[in-house]
Amino acid sequence: MGNIDRSWIEINLDNLTYNVQTLHGVLPPKCRIMAVVKANAYGHGDVEVARHLNKIGINTFAVATIGEGIHLREHGVTGEILVLGYTVPQRIPELVHYNLSQTVVGLEHAKQIDDFGTPARVHIKVDTGMHRLGESYEHVSGIAQMFEYKNLKIEGIFTHLCVADSLDVGDVKFTEGQIQSFYQLLVQLRSRHIVIPKIHIQSSYGILNYPELQCDYVRPGVALYGILSSPGDVTNLQLPLQSVLALKTRVAQVRGIETGESVGYGRQFVAHTNTKIAVLPIGYADGLPRNLSCGDNYVLIHGHRAPIIGRICMDQMMVDVTEIPSVKNGDIATIIGRDGKEEISAEQVAKNAGTITNELLSRLGSRLERIPC
Ligand SMILES: *Cc1c(COP(=O)(O)O)cnc(C)c1O
Repeated sequence: MGNIDRSWIEINLDNLTYNVQTLHGVLPPKCRIMAVVKANAYGHGDVEVARHLNKIGINTFAVATIGEGIHLREHGVTGEILVLGYTVPQRIPELVHYNLSQTVVGLEHAKQIDDFGTPARVHIKVDTGMHRLGESYEHVSGIAQMFEYKNLKIEGIFTHLCVADSLDVGDVKFTEGQIQSFYQLLVQLRSRHIVIPKIHIQSSYGILNYPELQCDYVRPGVALYGILSSPGDVTNLQLPLQSVLALKTRVAQVRGIETGESVGYGRQFVAHTNTKIAVLPIGYADGLPRNLSCGDNYVLIHGHRAPIIGRICMDQMMVDVTEIPSVKNGDIATIIGRDGKEEISAEQVAKNAGTITNELLSRLGSRLERIPC
């Protein structure tokens, strides 16, 4: 890592492999992983992650947008790539050109794709209660009609669970209702002599709380990256997943300030005693939440905790290194990850910032280099 001069993300590809193997270990034998690599693979670097997954035998991916799918194709990612979000009909030629699969979000969308006149690979999205995208599971005739559209190459049918992360009795009941509605739809389609394509239901928490479901695919995102959404989330399955991402930066300057002097915008930190501070070249424009300012948050330098002081700026932040011996320009500071005996998890940083890891990591910015290691 010697040549990274500002701030960067290290991605541990061995841990990614380990997570894939661990997930495969608990899934039914014929069930495969559709790796969710949307939002730059949750900030990890979509190309680096997808290429590695290709290498270890994963050949089904999910992204949020057609642009994300094209980006992967242009960087040599092979296999099926499913666009989970809505794509406007005008872009169907690109779907075909890049051999992407598109989610059909409803009957009208199905008709638009069919009308376009070129065969397109699709998965049908069924709404079973989240009320985001999808054709209602109750509209059996509408879904059956999609199978008659000649230009729809229907390769999958799926739904999405909206409280699979909760083990509260009511939430479990709701989820079981969603699952039942989906399978009942399949029965009704079969009774109309429709051959059911590949089916999938579970994202990460669906796997962790309902691992017994018999599907062709699962769609893990956050679990693939070895983390939960929030620290201490309780799930039926507890897997020893390994976090893939570390966020690091390099000390830009060390300076002394005297008692009574302040640090940063708004003069929110005032030194009670002579203090040594380090300036770190990472800020909220890199995706580090500004509300980590002025609290009990810290980074790790030389294996010790260096408290964040003052307000986090757009491109920089300051930490207190008074207690840490011999900190100098160029030393590495760890914001997420391990340094010596200390570790700061993404779950903890997300919680401190009042959010979930999914948001924290997916917002890590384009100025950060992604370094596979
Ligand atoms: C983002 C997303 C996933 C992955 O979710 P995780 O909770 O990160 O596993 C799966 N399916 C759909 C439809 C999604 O939008």
